[in-house]
Amino acid sequence: MTEFAIPRSIFTDEHQQFRESVKRFYEREIAPHHAKWEEAGIVPREAWLKAGEAGFLCATMPEEYGGAGADRYYSTILMEEQAYVGASGPGFSLHSDIVAPYILNYGTEEQKQKWLPKMAKGEVIGAIAMTEPGTGSDLQGVKTTAVRKGNQFVINGQKTFITNGQNADLVIVVAKTDPKEGAKGMSLFLVEGDREGFTKGRNLEKLGLRAQDTSELFFNDVHVPPENMLGGEGQGFYMLMQELAWERLQIAIGAVAACEAALNWTVAYTRDRKAFGKSIADFQNTRFELAEIKTETQVARVFVDKCIELVAQNKLDVATAAMAKYWCSDLQNKIVDRCLQLHGGYGFMWEYPIARAYADARVQRIYGGTNEIMKELISRTL
Ligand SMILES: Cc1cc2nc3c(=O)[nH]c(=O)nc-3n(C[C@H](O)[C@H](O)[C@H](O)COP(=O)(O)OP(=O)(O)OC[C@H]3O[C@@H](n4cnc5c(N)ncnc54)[C@H](O)[C@@H]3O)c2cc1C
Repeated sequence: MTEFAIPRSIFTDEHQQFRESVKRFYEREIAPHHAKWEEAGIVPREAWLKAGEAGFLCATMPEEYGGAGADRYYSTILMEEQAYVGASGPGFSLHSDIVAPYILNYGTEEQKQKWLPKMAKGEVIGAIAMTEPGTGSDLQGVKTTAVRKGNQFVINGQKTFITNGQNADLVIVVAKTDPKEGAKGMSLFLVEGDREGFTKGRNLEKLGLRAQDTSELFFNDVHVPPENMLGGEGQGFYMLMQELAWERLQIAIGAVAACEAALNWTVAYTRDRKAFGKSIADFQNTRFELAEIKTETQVARVFVDKCIELVAQNKLDVATAAMAKYWCSDLQNKIVDRCLQLHGGYGFMWEYPIARAYADARVQRIYGGTNEIMKELISRTL
């Protein structure tokens, strides 16, 4: 790994030890299989079970619910090590650091007992379904409805681009319990993968994240009891807004780790590759490119580490998280592109990690709220 002049100061010795075991896990259990999973378009359940067994799922959940009661620095390490091996398929962080916290923060005791221990073991895979074919950025415009009928809610609608969609055993579905209302009419429901009327559509063919089972989901008269509602009726939008800073910072964490990985691969490649009787790394253009890439990555690293520190203290505000998300994902796209260029034709070949990193980088500017929406949020603070 390239050494940066400014050492990272956010991790303790325990965190560093944890990082070693996470690194081993990703190098042994994930990286060697990833190409096969890309062809299959999905990460098999065995990989989830292995991650669960190793204690790498839902680590921040309290021990009584199967987690390790870990802080968000542990989550950060998991995300970084996954990015360092270029494994974009496993939707572990969405499962552990987005879906599980909703259940922990808003679930009833019964819901927590029922789902969290199984999620920590990897026996239940989680997803969250907000986006629909007709609406993404404009979340309040969702058309999926959950209508009360007797003592049940009946869900109808369609979702798309849902991470972990094929594998999902449990989906948090955003639906309107009062379609006349915008934000106030939205509620969240826990829908089990085997609920009658719930079907999984296409596992979508994508530009990148090729081992990720991003899917369409259909809800056709899906009856759920009130016990499946997560949090209060009409509270959906409010709940979705609470953890946005952390959810967006996760994208920035992945982005900076991807820049570091790209830099390392490119330093190694350009030292090895020869042209005109010397290493590519010896051309001044290469050295200047790499110098700029290292500088920009270092700058991003310091900013994101500060944000991680703030999020661990529950002090990261939405606008600062939006800055991290938009700026780091933009940077990732620029850096990966420049690194690919330094690989020449090999950079375009799928077998090279830089080619995959290039394909995987693009979506970072789109999901989790597009970068344009991030700028909207930042501009509101001016
Ligand atoms: C691989 C992948 C995984 C995903 N995973 C999930 C998931 O697990 N769960 C989930 O619910 N969703 C998921 N999404 C959906 C993702 O969050 C949305 O695609 C994203 O929020 C953008 O919504 P949209 O696609 O409808 O684009 P649109 O909202 O239609 O936007 C189109 C363009 O218009 C711009 N735009 C929209 N509104 C404004 C505005 N007010 N001002 C300026 N510009 C604007 C956007 O920035 C964008 O450039 C995933 C998407 C992808 C590609």
